[in-house]
Amino acid sequence: MEPQGPNADAKGPGWRDMAGSSFDGMSPDGIASPVLAALHTLHHQHRGPCGGAVATYIPELAKADPSLFGISLATVDGHVYEVGDSRHEFTIQSISKPLVYGLVLADHGRDHVVTKVGVEPSGDAFNSIIFDEKGNRPFNPMVNAGAIATTALIDGASPEERLARIVDLFGRFAGRPLAIDHEVFLSERETGHRNRAIAWLERNFGMIDAQIDEHLDLYFQQCSILVTACDLAMMAATLANAGVNPKTGERVLAPHHVRDILSVMNTCGMYDYAGTWSFDVGLPAKSGVGGGIIAVLPGQFGIGTFSPPLDDRGNSCRGLRVCQALSEVFNLHVFAVSPSPLTVIRNQYRATRVHSKRLRSAPERAVLDRFGDEVCIYELQGDLYFASMERLLRDLDGGLEGVCYVILDARRVGRIDASARRLLNRLHEALADQGKRLLLSGLPASLLSLLREEAELPWPDESWFEDEDTALEWCENRLIAAHIPASRRPVGPLPLAAIEIFACLTTDELAAVQTIVEEVRYCAGERIIREGEQADCFYVVRSGSVIVRLDLGPEKRMKRLAAIGPGLCFGEIALFDGGHRSADVVADEETSCYRIPVERLAQLTGAYPDIRAKLLFNIGRELSARLRSATGEIRALEGLGDP
Ligand code: GLU
Repeated sequence: MEPQGPNADAKGPGWRDMAGSSFDGMSPDGIASPVLAALHTLHHQHRGPCGGAVATYIPELAKADPSLFGISLATVDGHVYEVGDSRHEFTIQSISKPLVYGLVLADHGRDHVVTKVGVEPSGDAFNSIIFDEKGNRPFNPMVNAGAIATTALIDGASPEERLARIVDLFGRFAGRPLAIDHEVFLSERETGHRNRAIAWLERNFGMIDAQIDEHLDLYFQQCSILVTACDLAMMAATLANAGVNPKTGERVLAPHHVRDILSVMNTCGMYDYAGTWSFDVGLPAKSGVGGGIIAVLPGQFGIGTFSPPLDDRGNSCRGLRVCQALSEVFNLHVFAVSPSPLTVIRNQYRATRVHSKRLRSAPERAVLDRFGDEVCIYELQGDLYFASMERLLRDLDGGLEGVCYVILDARRVGRIDASARRLLNRLHEALADQGKRLLLSGLPASLLSLLREEAELPWPDESWFEDEDTALEWCENRLIAAHIPASRRPVGPLPLAAIEIFACLTTDELAAVQTIVEEVRYCAGERIIREGEQADCFYVVRSGSVIVRLDLGPEKRMKRLAAIGPGLCFGEIALFDGGHRSADVVADEETSCYRIPVERLAQLTGAYPDIRAKLLFNIGRELSARLRSATGEIRALEGLGDP
């Protein structure tokens, strides 16, 4: 049945109505927010008389102003939209029920709790006195009988401690400390004969223990906690965010308890309107006779509405219509929202086509060109859950012939759920069986430790990398170590003659260069070149390694542009245009370099006219090799084939 009242046939506004709203919903920086504009439009459309009546069976509630009306929406990253009386305080009433259900699930575990309170919709009114006789328990925790039995299960050494636990929990859901409205509490305690009768019946059936007055007081107090529509939105967003408050970042409840709460909200949250609500609106929700409603779109956001007039089922008339309209216009029904597992693989390539930022010598490049296909990189995106992992595993299956290293880059991955972690651990085992290594990059530390804890086959230490580049560099180093014998790798600081760009110089020319070259040593982390400085010299690494990096500002991290090891030069820009340095260069470890001042090199030209030309030619050849490789990488990263 549709809600009653003058606005009963007011259909939700169409998208055009919302977009064309005269309420432009400007954010402080002047950019119109279409989301806020939509809330303003809804508020405007439904703020008139709505046909319901404020609850009077608790005398204090009868004093509520029926014109109050607030809407708030909080996202899982903590952004709050609000319109109307969104900061007006009112009592939470039945919206306390799902939260206390969560507390009790955490106290006793679901197996015990379901023996005391069922999870079947009763189809009856909120205050119905009907029980699940077979199970000897109330039908569900969302009707009063179930809620009283739930409250009776709250742990605590004293009534004060039990109450403090409730108030504290609600505050953590809302992201601010909350208080009780004592007038409303006393008013309900005085007049709540029906709830008292329910509790005594439950006592009679052995559903709750003997401290009936204590449990009822607690129940009446939990219902009298003061909240605003914004608080409700944040509570709903905490449920949407699998139990982590998006504003404070605090985990309030474990995800499996949140799942149980949302399940009962979905089937029983709106009393005897629950079925129609689930059919039409499709958002797990809970209403309270104080005029509040919360609705949750898991993984996306929570809504909190407040308007005291209720329909004949005890649901806020305006709140109901706002939720209906929002769901309709934005297609929010949980069964209409489906993730797409098919886009999980953003890109896939081999180390022959994309190289790490470590510059390589010619022999090293030759190894990577020949054996780079042994390293396979998958860039992943979106969330990892059963279906997206299945898609990835299917792609890996059969596609790894000749591959020794598989890098999964998770930099663009959002959530990774338990089933994805399980499948990742299985993949690690399956690859290890075939003598292959699975490497992961860009995963948050918390997820890494979970993966490790859950692994049956321990992961080797070198399985985790901050980013794809360092993972790739590690694999390249392994290939180079496997294919260039140690005897052919340089030991100790390189002499000038062994450096590629000085090849082709005659012995006399080399000796002349030797006279202008300065040998400089740097300790790890020391800056060699500063961005913006005048470029008047260039460098060659003798031993150690340097990093070319961009400083992305105080909040952001450094971006590594290149890593340069022995025999390779940097700062060559000085030879060409002598302009300003375009990035910082710092020593990555204890490093020794040759520093060649450009002016002094120019002075050699009189006696040795060919030196400059030979150096420019060698550096030019080196740069064009890098350019060619960069073009190839862009092709691979853009998903294009070889030319
Ligand atoms: N304190 C109210 C009662 O038990 C809560 C009812 C409700 O909000 O639905 O009657």
